[in-house]
Amino acid sequence: MSIQWFPGHMTRARRQIQEKLKLIDLAIELLDARIPLSSRNPMVDEILLDKPRLIVLNKADLADAKTTEQWMADFKAEGHASIAVDSSTGTKVNEIPVMAKQILHEKIERQIAKGMNPRAIRALIVGIPNVGKSTLINRLAGRSIAETGDRPGVTKGQQWIKVGKEMELLDTPGILWPKFEDQLVGYRLAMTGAIREQILNVEDIAFFAVKELVKRYWAALAERFDLDKPPSDPDDSDEIVRVMEEIGRKRGCLVSGGRVDLEKASGIILRELRAGKLGRITLETPDMM
Ligand code: GDP
Repeated sequence: MSIQWFPGHMTRARRQIQEKLKLIDLAIELLDARIPLSSRNPMVDEILLDKPRLIVLNKADLADAKTTEQWMADFKAEGHASIAVDSSTGTKVNEIPVMAKQILHEKIERQIAKGMNPRAIRALIVGIPNVGKSTLINRLAGRSIAETGDRPGVTKGQQWIKVGKEMELLDTPGILWPKFEDQLVGYRLAMTGAIREQILNVEDIAFFAVKELVKRYWAALAERFDLDKPPSDPDDSDEIVRVMEEIGRKRGCLVSGGRVDLEKASGIILRELRAGKLGRITLETPDMM
């Protein structure tokens, strides 16, 4: 599932997107609303250049709605239109073609002024693995098209999918790599499920997650796992481990001698967090940029 990105893969992924850019009017940059920074490709501006762009914050159902608004205001200030959607249920997905038309209205009007019949807007979805590209393609298509899962370098025949009358979408998305050289980014990606446990250890990911939650979402963590009071120092690793142990005890993750099975507790914490059971959680705000 997860890709090991080597320089050759990146070069090939980039080249594939640049080939597809020649065919399209609009790039749809898909980000994870919970981690808009970590889910963004570090070279996206260089790759997309001045191609008209719509930023789609996906998995908005799992993210803090207020922070999502802040991100959208921030992207607007950067000169990019954006929209927040939930591709798994389709919420707001219908607005994507409407926004695409708004972004390209000058071009469309020029065509009309020249007496041309404007053709459907051609679009390409780009984003890192697991951000929801295939899910969104299937939603926009209204049927099952894209295979979930990614393999850069594997190309199949490309086709246009009709999205209503006014938009067409390439059926294979552009796969971009994340900013994984930064360890914090790696943990945030792992915490949200974008990269799998074979790369980072499950207890390390859960430790990172609990630390972030203690700092930013203590109330949600305490409510979900019935915890008493927050650690006095969230930067003290021992205190974070104690919170993990308490969660483990509450969930009956015990091994002989009454010790807590931290690996099992870690799995529970991550599963429930990713499924949205702790509520809507965003890990990155625009002021972190
Ligand atoms: P891709 O690798 O970018 O094509 O990502 P997928 O489309 O395979 O999606 C990765 C995972 O995220 C799948 O388990 C999807 O069900 C899930 N997913 C995609 N979009 C959303 C969304 O908007 N909300 C939620 N909650 N889950 C989503």
